[in-house]
Amino acid sequence: MTERFTKSFTRQAPLPDAALVAADRVLRSGLLHRYGHGDGRDSEVGQLERAFADEVGARYCLAVASGGQAMAVALRAVGVRPGDRVLSNAFTLAPVPGAIAAVGATPLLIETEDTLCLDFDDLASKLDRASVLLLSHMRGHMCDMDRLMALCDRAGVTVVEDCAHTMGAFWNDVPSGRHGRVGCYSTQTYKHINSGEGGLLVSDDAELMARATVLSGCYMNFARHPAGPPPEAYHDIALETPNMSCRMDELRAAILRPQLTGLARDRAAWAVLYRTLEDGLRGTPGVALVPRSDRERFVGSSFQFRLPGWSAEAMTALIARAGRRGVEIKWFGAEQPVGFTSRYDHWRYAAPEPLPKTTAILASLVDLRLPLTFDAADAACIARILDNEIRELARPQTAAE
Ligand SMILES: *Cc1c(COP(=O)(O)O)cnc(C)c1O
Repeated sequence: MTERFTKSFTRQAPLPDAALVAADRVLRSGLLHRYGHGDGRDSEVGQLERAFADEVGARYCLAVASGGQAMAVALRAVGVRPGDRVLSNAFTLAPVPGAIAAVGATPLLIETEDTLCLDFDDLASKLDRASVLLLSHMRGHMCDMDRLMALCDRAGVTVVEDCAHTMGAFWNDVPSGRHGRVGCYSTQTYKHINSGEGGLLVSDDAELMARATVLSGCYMNFARHPAGPPPEAYHDIALETPNMSCRMDELRAAILRPQLTGLARDRAAWAVLYRTLEDGLRGTPGVALVPRSDRERFVGSSFQFRLPGWSAEAMTALIARAGRRGVEIKWFGAEQPVGFTSRYDHWRYAAPEPLPKTTAILASLVDLRLPLTFDAADAACIARILDNEIRELARPQTAAE
């Protein structure tokens, strides 16, 4: 009998009981606004900010309404002005160029390596055209961060990190998000901790974080940020910075805090799924696994591999055949954007220059979500089905087929 996979690729793990208890407490109190407490107690949001700052060893942390908002606030806070160009990865998710466009700037996209990280040569050739790089660790792939920071520091380019897929990951034992000037994270359902929507940013720079806090919509409540800069940092900033109104609320913060303690455990669980898929596809003809550095401790919440040289027809056939056996894969090569998956040349507002290397990589790139509702046996089953279908499609076809 043909093996089928029956679990859902979009079903996330339920939240821990402690999150349910915390949510109940907040809902019963009716205090859902982060500045609603009159008694000088730290808000749930403030406590989350303090806990996350400690988690990644940052001086300051600010919670906001989404990962996209965290990036837009960060870009504005580091001084990006309308009309500026901002460097970023061509291989990323739409909210990344979206955050650049949201501050009136234009993305200047960088080519992609077979590691799925940005191409250092292309970056080096474009560093004199912008003063900020919004570096996206797309799907958890971190480039050589030591080399990147040396290159950007030398060129005077400020690095803002998009850590939507690297919360809980490390490069050379430094948490992802702590190499650049600012680290931005998402707490949207399909990332590493889940509040439906939400975002966090961290930095050690007091002036930058004062701007970010006012941008997020703190009004004159900046003293009520237990993980924020001291009130002195705000003296002119509070009057000179607009309010972009993208605060996090108490309910989301309350359900996020108990999830923080599970980051290391979840990284270990994801590693099992990721390595099982890697092992299961290592011998599959035509499959190129994505090289990983031993300096990264990554979070394998999704899995990618490439089928270099495969035609669009063959890729489409694989998606259909795997889909019929319950394995939901995504492809970055589709002519039209589908669901959450789009490609740099679909972002017309950014008028991207053609990037042939990225186009070729994306045309061969297969992407799978790995929710923690899967176990090692599930990952092995998915790998067997993919191995099977890839071999089937690679077999010389007879006229009858
Ligand atoms: C999801 C995502 C974001 C943005 O997060 P939201 O919280 O959904 O706005 C940013 N970058 C990448 C790579 C993402 O996948």
